[in-house]
Amino acid sequence: MKQSLLFVPTLKDAPKDAEVKSHKLMSRAGLIKQVAAGIYTYLPLGYKVIKNIEEIIRQELEKIDASELLMPALQPSDLWMESGRWDEYGPELMRLQDRKGRDFCLGPTHEEIITQVVRDYISSYKKLPFALYQIQTKFRDEMRPRFGLMRGREFIMKDAYTFSPTEEDLDIWYKKFTKAYIDIFKRCGLETKIVSSDVGQIGGDEADEFMVMSEVGEDNITYCNKCNYGANQEHSGLNEGDPCPKCGADLLVARGIEVGNIFKLGTKYSESMNAKFMDQNGKPKPVIMGCYGLGISRTLMASVEQHSTENAIIWPKEISPYQVHIIPVNYKNEEQHDLALEIYSTLRENGIEVLLDDRFERAGVKFKDADLIGIPFRIIVGKDATEGKVEFVNRYKDEKQLVNKSDILDYI
Ligand code: ATP
Ligand code: MG
Repeated sequence: MKQSLLFVPTLKDAPKDAEVKSHKLMSRAGLIKQVAAGIYTYLPLGYKVIKNIEEIIRQELEKIDASELLMPALQPSDLWMESGRWDEYGPELMRLQDRKGRDFCLGPTHEEIITQVVRDYISSYKKLPFALYQIQTKFRDEMRPRFGLMRGREFIMKDAYTFSPTEEDLDIWYKKFTKAYIDIFKRCGLETKIVSSDVGQIGGDEADEFMVMSEVGEDNITYCNKCNYGANQEHSGLNEGDPCPKCGADLLVARGIEVGNIFKLGTKYSESMNAKFMDQNGKPKPVIMGCYGLGISRTLMASVEQHSTENAIIWPKEISPYQVHIIPVNYKNEEQHDLALEIYSTLRENGIEVLLDDRFERAGVKFKDADLIGIPFRIIVGKDATEGKVEFVNRYKDEKQLVNKSDILDYI
């Protein structure tokens, strides 16, 4: 892509209400634009990263044999009355009426709809188990939308649901999703701590949260450095210095961003909404459910928070909007211009996603923008262009190397 044609409205100053580093940077880098409190447009660069995260999720969930579907955001109140949540959910639920005065909501989560999807199908134990997921926009009228994509009122989530005939089978899915989540977050450049959580609103048995340790997180995590114990303070009530319930060492407390959340739902929805199957003895039983949420837009935000300085982003390789950024120091110079274009074509022909800064801007302006845009590998075409040489920059290592144009592909 030629940068002159890419819509990337970088800003000199962050919006006044942007409190945390990632929110400031994402606005300045032209990744997102606020429409109203907690409501954002994903601009082309930001949306590219979102799609990369989604692709990683799809690949990892394919590995555990979960199938993708897409449910409606617009949900009739009848199903929520069946589950009992129409009255329980409270003001976070975005409610609206159609022209006939019937009640609907904009889905904050999809337990009701997914149960309606499967309940006519699961006549027998032979149809079980299976896992379904979707990637979709969710709506929640959050009390305090803030920190950019961290707490939106409209946000992108991957939500998955499993349907098991037995508790043992639910355990197997729970473990598979745990492993898939660890891998997904790793590929997004995020180390996560798994902490047991309060089941809260959804109701059910066991639950775990995936936390990215960060001072801008909204949760307090008690954890142990000796063993892998971790718990949400909200749930455990443990404090800094208390003995670890697992190994006795002193516990620590730090803030975390919750990027994912998995629950053993059990039969809450299958009982209330009558999703039953015939077991091997011909007896009807409620199907045993698990649900697995992953905040995609929040993952993007957490990744920026972890992989940036005040004025620069360095994207983790697998989610970077482009792999290589070509920056001619002076695009008016014929040699630099021609060499930059030549390398640009070669990389593109070899399937490498590359951004060429073909603007007639001062070098300083271009480098400032490049720092914000955050592409990890840079090819700077400058004075050495006369000898067919360019500077290759690996921003992860802060390494520069003069490279012959014929060696660039090998280098990458
Ligand atoms: P939180 O405690 O942060 O409100 P939650 O327990 O309500 O989260 P879930 O309902 O389990 O979250 O949603 C699954 C995932 O969706 C969360 O782990 C988080 O990553 C993401 N998420 C939840 N609420 C929001 C929001 N308002 N904006 C962006 N992402 C969100
Ligand atoms: Mg919430």
